[in-house]
Amino acid sequence: MKKRFWENKQLSDFSRKEWELLCDGCGKCCLNKFQKTKKSPPVFTNVACRFLNIQKCKCKVYDERKNKKSDCLILSPKNIDQLVNWLPTSCSYRLIFEKKELPFWHHLNNNKNKNVHNTKNSVKNFAISEEYVDSTDMSNHMAKKINNT
Ligand code: SF4
Ligand code: SF4
Repeated sequence: MKKRFWENKQLSDFSRKEWELLCDGCGKCCLNKFQKTKKSPPVFTNVACRFLNIQKCKCKVYDERKNKKSDCLILSPKNIDQLVNWLPTSCSYRLIFEKKELPFWHHLNNNKNKNVHNTKNSVKNFAISEEYVDSTDMSNHMAKKINNT
């Protein structure tokens, strides 16, 4: 694997390993979202999918996620152009798709003292599992930090 492989390379040319490595592990894409109107951007809530391990910000059923949750969006180089607006603006895939740089805290930038959690860029400290939230109450769970980025 080339050093700093994500620079000057199309997402469609990433190997599977490179693609997986790009994810910053923030967990934001596993938060429930809703749209105010059909054309408006998604509004993120602080309510996480029941399959997200919130402390680790990792999917508990990653290899079988499509079977376990039919509306889980599986991002790939082939569909990112259609899904990009559903990703948080900090998402590494979105940043590279939009030809922007990865943040200083991204693990690929190898900043030993900074990471997605201690810079408060993951959902670890504010997400709540959907197991504990009434689905009709989502509008009371808007995640301001994500919606404002
Ligand atoms: S199934 Fe896994 S990857 Fe899909 S939304 Fe839930 S936690 Fe995220
Ligand atoms: S929002 Fe993007 S970078 Fe963050 S966990 Fe989801 S896919 Fe990975």
